[in-house]
Amino acid sequence: MPSLAIDASSAAARILIVDDEQHMCDVCARTLQRGGYSVVATSDPHAAVGLLRDDLPFDLLLTDIKMPTMSGLELARVARDRDPAIAIIIMTGFASIENMHQSVQRGAADFLSKPFELDQLRLAVDQALHKRTILQDNLRLRALEQLIANSEALTTTLDLAALQQIVLHVTLKHSGARASFLLLADDDGLPQQAVVASDGAALLEHGYLLARRAFDDQQPVTDAAAPNSLLHNQPLTYALAVPLRAQGRSNGTLVLCDDRPGLLRPGMQEAIVLLANHAGAALRNAVLYSRLGEAYQRRQELDTLKSEIISIASHELRTPLSLVLGYTMMVRDQASGEQREYLQRVMDGAQRIKEIVDDMVSLRHIETGEAKLTLQPVNLDELIHHALESYQPAVRARSHHVYLELPQPSVVFLSDREKLNVILTNLVSNAIKFTPDGGQIVVRAAVQPLRSPNSDATLITHPPALAANTWVTISVEDSGIGIPQHEHTRIFERFYQVADSLTRERGGTGLGLALVRELAATLGGAVWLVSREGEGSVFAVALPYQPPASLHSD
Ligand code: ADP
Repeated sequence: MPSLAIDASSAAARILIVDDEQHMCDVCARTLQRGGYSVVATSDPHAAVGLLRDDLPFDLLLTDIKMPTMSGLELARVARDRDPAIAIIIMTGFASIENMHQSVQRGAADFLSKPFELDQLRLAVDQALHKRTILQDNLRLRALEQLIANSEALTTTLDLAALQQIVLHVTLKHSGARASFLLLADDDGLPQQAVVASDGAALLEHGYLLARRAFDDQQPVTDAAAPNSLLHNQPLTYALAVPLRAQGRSNGTLVLCDDRPGLLRPGMQEAIVLLANHAGAALRNAVLYSRLGEAYQRRQELDTLKSEIISIASHELRTPLSLVLGYTMMVRDQASGEQREYLQRVMDGAQRIKEIVDDMVSLRHIETGEAKLTLQPVNLDELIHHALESYQPAVRARSHHVYLELPQPSVVFLSDREKLNVILTNLVSNAIKFTPDGGQIVVRAAVQPLRSPNSDATLITHPPALAANTWVTISVEDSGIGIPQHEHTRIFERFYQVADSLTRERGGTGLGLALVRELAATLGGAVWLVSREGEGSVFAVALPYQPPASLHSD
């Protein structure tokens, strides 16, 4: 970071002495050098103009008023252009009210009439430098006020194109420069093409290289060596390039160009750096916002695509699949021996396809609102045993230990048995699939007030606002591979599988949990997931408890 203020007291003040009498130059220079100042003296006012424009900035100009080739007042104007806070002392042998008036108008700090004592000179220089410090402070304060007012504009929009124009205009306004250029970096670094504030402005190769330097070195750089840009074909030589920063990194460069040296004024660089930092952060937010918008749009498109796949698959596969299943069953029943065995395998495969198609049909029905609730008394114990039954062979094959913790005596409640069965079978089959051989699976059920399984739980489906007092909670816990925290919500999306399980080692379609989530919502329930990678998972579903009697009283 460049320092924000130049502390005049930390370095010897730089003084420029201009007097066409060489002797006068020498005496003053020696006196002030002895006083500890850094002095440059010249008897040629035109050389002084060059020094004021191109050299390191001066703190004080001590100039004769009447010189053959240029007036000291003119020189004072050039010095002020470069630095409005520069201290100026005008020396003259022809003190007149008119001269004094003019020099005061030009902001001369002091007026020294020749001949003067050297002590008078020292005193005048001290006082003028003191006034300069106060003036500098005032200017800084004003610049800061202006800076705050200008930078407020940077928070008015998140639209990237609009914000780029605001950045360009705010920095133009603040610096008084004639052209500004913005190069917003992407993943490949700075672009070749700069965004400009007005049509007639063009960044030249020299200016582009300056922008690169500021970006690569992460430092503001100034240049006046060659034209950096053109404005309506007029070359602009003075340039200040400032890196834009966000989150500690450069994310672009701002280049300001002018045909006068005002950009090189002390304090200007610091102010533009502050604006650039603010602009860098605002632009970064706008870029992120637009990426978010694009990602959201892509997601919407993906969701539509998923719906279409589900819709087509569920519609087009159902009928031919029923035919395959029906005829295969018929032929199998008439066959014997090896042939019967092969046909059974065909049946098993087709049955698996049917399960997938059934999931798609269920999802489609929920989406279209065709899913109807069929409420009937459900015995909790029976429901869970029935769901586990079909998985007995798989449990045995994997040597899993399955434990049940169910309320005794069993509870009967009103719900949709078919939908509950789909929820449970999906959770149980996942527990088996994602638990290593010999692992443990616990199915728990309870009738209790609504509560989250534990403080780490991710709530997947929110219970409805007017929730019941009593809930039937069913959870399936496994000692399996677990799920990383950032995947907790995603695995409930349609077709989503955790990257590791994509190796297809365990099969699956990524539809099961989507169905669990949507069926639970249809039943007015809530879903939670507690899981850590490598430690196992608990999937919990809570459903509002409705006593069976309410079926008739409704
Ligand atoms: P499928 O099991 O057909 O892949 P699901 O929608 O049922 O689809 O599950 C989505 C993904 O969530 C799975 O592919 C797996 O990555 C992860 N997952 C589901 N249940 C578990 C579990 N009990 N343990 C670990 N990961 C699981």
